[in-house]
Amino acid sequence: MAFEAAPLPYDYDALEPSIDEQTMRIHHGKHYQGYTDKLNAALEGTKWADQPIEETLKNLDQLPEDKQTAVRNNGGGYLNHGVFWTIMSPSGGGTPTGELATAIDETFGSFDQFKEQFEAKAKGQFGSGWAWLGYAPGKGLHLHGLPNQDAPALHGHYAILGIDVWEHAYYLKYQNKRPDYVSAWWDVVNWDEADRRFREAKAQMG
Ligand code: MN
Repeated sequence: MAFEAAPLPYDYDALEPSIDEQTMRIHHGKHYQGYTDKLNAALEGTKWADQPIEETLKNLDQLPEDKQTAVRNNGGGYLNHGVFWTIMSPSGGGTPTGELATAIDETFGSFDQFKEQFEAKAKGQFGSGWAWLGYAPGKGLHLHGLPNQDAPALHGHYAILGIDVWEHAYYLKYQNKRPDYVSAWWDVVNWDEADRRFREAKAQMG
């Protein structure tokens, strides 16, 4: 069964003014669809086509060498964006909720300190990539700046919350002003979904 691009769970213009409609249309309809199509092309007819992509990325070295780069990039792109659409919402913003709120305070001292460190990762990521809040057993919550479409799953981490800082995610509206995009992004963060992912991570990984 082929991987399918998940529909956007809100309208293309729903994240305005933080993220503009045209960016969302191209990002979801072209970039995300492109990663999905290329992932399917790379895995077509192999046993990995039917395996959760997280598992495949965790065990990338078991793939034929000539498929590893395509799956790392496009499998990561498929997975990362699938998370990204859901951890944003037109009714997002505010502060963390539930168990995640408590864990952020315990790990980073306060929400403001977390925000500062997360923003530093997002703004400081050289070139294309993502900033992630991840979870791993023994490690707990931690921040991770990852290049290109490298997914937290590559490192055995569960993605809780991430921001796409590829230029395709913000350039039409913000041009070279990535920090303005990062600041505006907080207004659309879906904290309930991030909390749900955190609880799911702990349930799955311990
Ligand atoms: Mn993207």
